[in-house]
Amino acid sequence: HYNFCAGPAALPAAVLERARDEMLDYQGRGLSVMEMSHRSPEFVAIAEQAEADLRELLAIPDNYRVLFTQGGASLQFSAVPYNLLGQGGRPNFLNTGIWSKKAIAEARHLVGDVHVAASSEGNGHSAVPRQEEVVLSDDAAYLHYTANETIGGLEFDYIPGSKEGGPRRPDGTEVPLVCDMSSSILSGPLDVSRFGVIYAGAQKNIGPAGLVVVIVRDDLLDQARGDMPSLFGYKTLSEAGSMVNTPATYSWYLAGLVFDWLKSDIGGLAAMDALNARKAAKLYAAIDESGLYANPITLGSRSRMNVPFVLADASLDAAFLAEAEAAGLLNLKGHRSVGGMRASLYNAVPEAAVDALIAFMADFEKRRG
Ligand code: PLP
Repeated sequence: HYNFCAGPAALPAAVLERARDEMLDYQGRGLSVMEMSHRSPEFVAIAEQAEADLRELLAIPDNYRVLFTQGGASLQFSAVPYNLLGQGGRPNFLNTGIWSKKAIAEARHLVGDVHVAASSEGNGHSAVPRQEEVVLSDDAAYLHYTANETIGGLEFDYIPGSKEGGPRRPDGTEVPLVCDMSSSILSGPLDVSRFGVIYAGAQKNIGPAGLVVVIVRDDLLDQARGDMPSLFGYKTLSEAGSMVNTPATYSWYLAGLVFDWLKSDIGGLAAMDALNARKAAKLYAAIDESGLYANPITLGSRSRMNVPFVLADASLDAAFLAEAEAAGLLNLKGHRSVGGMRASLYNAVPEAAVDALIAFMADFEKRRG
């Protein structure tokens, strides 16, 4: 079977096998990682290794803290404004679809007013705003964007801001760039130094749902609002090694196995990048060349991780999904808000899965198209 789920997504088979082998008895210690005290030397070693491997994979500079926290990426929609608005100012956003809008709504809920610095609403979220369209407000405190819209299948092909630094207010002063990277983190190399805050829910390219990885630049640890719940606080989490309360220990351990898999089995993020590029290119080519399938996204904005597509005859949707499932191709149904199909091609989805999907799609079109 191949799992194309958008999230929680497939995990690498090698990771699941290793977790299974270590499940009852971690390295001869006589207990499961799940049963270990988070303060035990065994677990602290697991946690530190996971962070070290993530730092190595993403080449995270020393002036960034890495947090392993909880509450899903959605909790960061609130945590970000709490952490960054201590000195006032307005959050600025790029609106590229459903996940951007959810982040905007939470910030509005907290501060009342936000500024949308650019939006792809005008083109039906089929192309990301170009750099020159992004206009921050005079009182911008930071610029938030969603690197990859998991539902719309829209992905930025550039990092907003200038090569010399972060995005700028009209007066030329720089503000931190904040990115929801839930569905694209670790899909390829990244210049972390361009960002103030990166956060990602784990359930696509990192590990089990619930866990969230936050990468935050040191100088942003002291910008929090006074009314922030302490568990949201990047500084508090950082000072406690993400152990303010009991962390999601088992998820953290599994994330560590995924990082190790990326390093050892894949050979790092450049190799992962090449593989992801190949997988996505093949599937988009098959869609574009067919008479039955279509993807609405402009070429430069197409997501490498989530490939939505529709059938020219929507009355075939149910048959397509049923036959795909019978062929071992799972979770191809599009998000309930948009319908159609969606194939998520995260890191753990092997190229063979994409080949099998393309072969199935061609066969289905021949028979039913
Ligand atoms: N941001 C993006 C881009 C997502 O794809 C998702 C979930 O799929 C979320 C945020 C929300 O994540 P969570 O369900 O972990 O809160």
